[in-house]
Amino acid sequence: MSPRQPDPAPLARLSALATLPVFFRLTGKTVVLVGGSEGAAWKAELLASTGAHVRIFAPELCEKMHVTLRDLPTLTWIARVWETADLQGAALAIGDVESDEEATRFCAAARASGVPVNVIDRPAFCDFQFGSIVERSPVVIGISTDGAAPVFGQEIRARIESILPQGLRAWAQAAKSWRASVQARELPFRARRSFWERFTALAFSRPDQPPRDGDLQDLLRITDAAVSDASKGSVVLVGAGPGDPDLLTVKAVRALQSADVVLYDDLVSPLTVNAARREATRIAVGKRGYKPSCTQEDITALLVSLAREGKRVVRLKGGDPMIFGRAGEEIEGVTAAGFPVEIIPGVTAASGAAASLGLSLTERKVARRVQFITAHAHDGRLPDDLAYGALTDPRATTIVYMGVTTLPLLVARLLAEGLDPATPAIAVERATWPDERRIIGTIAQLPELIAQARPTGPCLVLIGAALGGPILPTH
Ligand code: SAH
Repeated sequence: MSPRQPDPAPLARLSALATLPVFFRLTGKTVVLVGGSEGAAWKAELLASTGAHVRIFAPELCEKMHVTLRDLPTLTWIARVWETADLQGAALAIGDVESDEEATRFCAAARASGVPVNVIDRPAFCDFQFGSIVERSPVVIGISTDGAAPVFGQEIRARIESILPQGLRAWAQAAKSWRASVQARELPFRARRSFWERFTALAFSRPDQPPRDGDLQDLLRITDAAVSDASKGSVVLVGAGPGDPDLLTVKAVRALQSADVVLYDDLVSPLTVNAARREATRIAVGKRGYKPSCTQEDITALLVSLAREGKRVVRLKGGDPMIFGRAGEEIEGVTAAGFPVEIIPGVTAASGAAASLGLSLTERKVARRVQFITAHAHDGRLPDDLAYGALTDPRATTIVYMGVTTLPLLVARLLAEGLDPATPAIAVERATWPDERRIIGTIAQLPELIAQARPTGPCLVLIGAALGGPILPTH
């Protein structure tokens, strides 16, 4: 065998780890638990859930421990104080002990027997720590802050909980039981990998439904076909929201995490694009009126050619793809070329702006109707087929997308058609971004106020009595 070639670039070394996460299999092993307190009862339940035989040493037990003991047959109570000999052969030793003196003795006894030890809530006496757990067993996630801040750890846990569907459990179990069938096929590495990628994509496409009987056969059949055929691409139109990356939906994050290529608009924040899988290729396809830009035809053609290469393409669009996003053309182009399209909605700029202003667009008794309009026809001019009867309705809230350039014309027309010049109006530039700006006035004043403020970012104009309420400050 030839010696391995040195890597072209030295590998970056891992940075320091406060603790090493390891996942300990305890099925059938003995764990010593000292103490009969509530804290010990929680640990008894946790340890029993791993299939360990837990020997509890304590002269007395609290009520909770009695109940735990009654419910869980792998727990044994030895009604006396622990002795050094009890630790022999144990896989782990956990103690809820009060005094430093007993903690010291317990620790020393466990270490002398070669047993890793944890004294509950006493880090100085611990060889290992219990992290917070996100449980989708057999998927188990442990979180440790090395005691830095439990609340911080809880928040991290809550965030992970919220993005991992409960149904993953069933999918991970299926993966375990299907593994042997996949192995038995002796597929080449790439095909095996593609099987598990498809399995994973399927799991995340319907995580809340357990795998069905036919899924394994379907996946194997597709994988077999894919061994000869280049794998087929797909396109997902994903709503990126108005700017704040935290406004991505959970589904959008999942799509970004499984993308091969991400095509993103100018309006999308780099932080949002960063939610994509690290290995994904990112392509900017800016389409802003006044900049050199890709045409819609170029973008649709690019989507199709990437899908032809077998890529999973995410088309990341500002706001919601189905609102002034030319989604129809992309859906049609991709579908006509024979590739599947999925659409994941996003928070549209109007919702982002309303939330940030703290103004309800349908304020009771004030607004009976919300309407989203564009003030930008395909030739860049004010569209001549706007329904002015609806736009001058005093009970309507009108949100104008792409409305800054033509606003003076629009306002002149609205006033001529009878809209009250005192109607409240707000322009919101870069809604939900850290540098959001508001320009506030009446509809009659707004064109002049905007001309003075010279917004350069995406800007939404909101018109109507509902905009007259008190406004929340920017963040
Ligand atoms: N699909 C997008 C709209 C695309 S049209 C959505 O649902 O929001 C582009 C127009 O949207 C911009 O000209 C501007 O009027 C508006 N827009 C998008 N993001 C915005 C933001 N963060 N703040 C204000 N307006 C925004």
